[in-house]
Amino acid sequence: MILGLRKHKYEGMIFAMNSSQRDLRSRAQKKSDAAADTRPRTTLSFYRYVKIADPAAFRERLVTTWTELGCMGRIYVAHEGINAQMNVPTEHFEVFDAWVQAQPELKGVPYKIAVEEGSVLSFYKLTIKVKDKIVADGLDDGSFDVTDVGEYLTAAQMNEYVEDPDALVVDMRNNYESEVGHFDNALIPNVVTFKDELQKTPELLRIHKNKKIALYCTGGIRCEKASAWLKHNGFSDVRHLKGGIIDYAHQVKEQGLENKFKGKNFVFDERLGERVGSEIVATCHICKTAKSDTHYHCKNQICYTLYIGCDECVAKRSGYCSLVCKQVDKLPANHKKRFARYYNLYIRKRKPFKKTRLQA
Ligand SMILES: [Zn+2]
Ligand SMILES: [Zn+2]
Repeated sequence: MILGLRKHKYEGMIFAMNSSQRDLRSRAQKKSDAAADTRPRTTLSFYRYVKIADPAAFRERLVTTWTELGCMGRIYVAHEGINAQMNVPTEHFEVFDAWVQAQPELKGVPYKIAVEEGSVLSFYKLTIKVKDKIVADGLDDGSFDVTDVGEYLTAAQMNEYVEDPDALVVDMRNNYESEVGHFDNALIPNVVTFKDELQKTPELLRIHKNKKIALYCTGGIRCEKASAWLKHNGFSDVRHLKGGIIDYAHQVKEQGLENKFKGKNFVFDERLGERVGSEIVATCHICKTAKSDTHYHCKNQICYTLYIGCDECVAKRSGYCSLVCKQVDKLPANHKKRFARYYNLYIRKRKPFKKTRLQA
């Protein structure tokens, strides 16, 4: 114990593993173990583009300390920086913060604190991965100046952009995110991944070349590269919302601004969304009539498709995205395994969303 913390009674059980051991608990077991730890938690995210000389060694430092603190989340580390989405037991938040700010790579990094915690735990295990990049953007960083990022916009400035006819607000997120919430008058490219969006945006925005452009995403990380990419493609006036929708929601509240974000902000954890605006802007994917903006993962683990369901449809289908999934889930395990191959090859293509990996 390097930090001398009081151990929670479940902590030994849940967090006893060090980085060299693999966590062999089942998904359900992890969830129920995490639920047994009822301490209040603070969900937050942060990112930084910073040179990390030895990502594996940096990861080890994070694993050791954050395991000790009982943190849970999904964190990516690369030579180009860190992207973290996680929760921290609130009683350990100060120690966590002091430790993070003491790391030379992270000094001064701002956190985006969750707008609401919700009824489910945001994360139920700690996963820290070393990756080539901290966001899957598909760009060749050597081909343009990634440090030539656009200027930041505050929430108040963003509101001006939303109203300004000479400005264009662009949603830089995936379609399943913008479907449940977006800024008024925003351009919402119909793309499944951020990678697709980056490829298509320069062409899509060509006719708006003389407008002032404002980009936004969940917490701001995607807009860092996107603004540099657009500038490289000849767009001179590109700015982006600092801290993304999460920080926008906080600033609106603190400064008493008008909220121009409608609906929910999709988030990449178990909560699947934070309410920012009270309106429901999406429709149930099953009945296609009832208003709903609640995302679910299909209960059939082979499918696990992310879908929007209204209360009635979710109850009627017992949490499955379709009747096929409901039937398939009743098959014996060996049949299910065989079916999974067929399912992935033929059925998934027809789903509104591909099997969704929760990654920005
Ligand atoms: Zn419905
Ligand atoms: Zn399904």
